[in-house]
Amino acid sequence: MPDGGFEKMIPKKLTVLGATGSIGRNVLQVVGQFPGRFTIGALSAQNNMALLAKQVEQYHPSMAAVGDARRAEELTALLPAGLDVDIVCGESGLCRAATQADTDLVVTAVVGAAGLLPTLAAIDAGKQIALANKETLVMAGQVVMARAATQGIDIFPIDSEHSAVFQCLAGNRRQDVARILLTGSGGPFRTMPADRFASITLADALNHPNWEMGRKITIDSATMMNKGLEIIEARWLFDVSIETIEVVVHPQSIVHSMVAFTDGSVIAQLGIPDMKGAIAFALSCPERLNIGQPAPDFAALAQLTFEPPDPDKFHCLRLAAVAGKAAGTLPAVLNAANEVAVFAFLEGKIGFTSIPELIESIMEAHAWTAEPSLEAIINADTWARQQSERFIRDSI
Ligand code: NDP
Ligand code: MG
Repeated sequence: MPDGGFEKMIPKKLTVLGATGSIGRNVLQVVGQFPGRFTIGALSAQNNMALLAKQVEQYHPSMAAVGDARRAEELTALLPAGLDVDIVCGESGLCRAATQADTDLVVTAVVGAAGLLPTLAAIDAGKQIALANKETLVMAGQVVMARAATQGIDIFPIDSEHSAVFQCLAGNRRQDVARILLTGSGGPFRTMPADRFASITLADALNHPNWEMGRKITIDSATMMNKGLEIIEARWLFDVSIETIEVVVHPQSIVHSMVAFTDGSVIAQLGIPDMKGAIAFALSCPERLNIGQPAPDFAALAQLTFEPPDPDKFHCLRLAAVAGKAAGTLPAVLNAANEVAVFAFLEGKIGFTSIPELIESIMEAHAWTAEPSLEAIINADTWARQQSERFIRDSI
């Protein structure tokens, strides 16, 4: 990440990993608004071949990466005969798409730990990164940032809070930063008393008040784990201590985040809650693209409010802060346990309050390593998934 500076080449050819997801679709909408400005080198999807086929026909990538060989056959059957696209599959296919020779910038918008290896592959191949997949930095921030520094490449944040901080830091000296203030809406259960959490249903948890997102991050927002993951993401992106980062609940989601400086001055970045703003900036900064998005209408906004989060109610926020402070392998364990717990909740196997219970129990059982290699991080992730599955089996 440049020190608040914006001296960057403008990317021309993009690869979008996770093209069929909420972020991926928004990226392609922005791309579609600027024909000639951006071209697409490769697209990836895991299962949604119907949408991927449409995207391939519209954006003409030379490569499409899909989940497995069966999906590759499905995609081939959906595409017009004779279309010149190389279809690859599995993790190795995703890494091939991430490292395609003439791509300038790789947008990493797959969900979960699956983002780590392709993001690292893209960095090692010298690609600029527009990062949505926060789990990559949560799991292995130290490895990812060190490799990015070695390659001299930039990681442009797509996460709206981190995009905001990136913009607030522009033109300022890093040593003058006093605090990074990450805002969060507080999710659908901000005002619900803790003793009612046990009765939360899947439909309640998927009903986010402000943002349209994929299912995993929507549940992460309801537990506030999303904000916890974002603390760890910010720690690595901006090279600050966990203690420098503060979470501020801001239910209107207009202030996307803020930076407080040593002179008591605070710079904030504001916008309507729509990811296309942060996406467009990650694709084109320092230039600001006219994506047709209005600025907030301040006269119509009745109020902007701020309050502290309640870590006693949102245990996931507390657990993420513990993992972030400990660092080493613990954030990878937190992340893996959270992924398993969230997907189990989405499948109706566990209740909402079991999510933090599961994560805490796996974190407590983990034999922690302070300065892990990539291999040790991946082993910790695998271990935590196995333990989490066992926790779920035992609790059913
Ligand atoms: P979605 O669930 O909407 O999309 C996920 C994408 O990843 C889809 O293209 C999906 O393919 C693909 N995918 C799923 N599993 C795998 C896998 N195992 N291997 C490879 N690809 C896979 O997620 P979002 O777009 O909401 O989120 C993507 C990332 O961006 C997450 O890390 C999230 O935290 C982050 N983010 C999202 C925001 C948002 O507003 N949505 C905001 C800030 C960050 P398929 O559709 O075929 O299943
Ligand atoms: Mg965010």
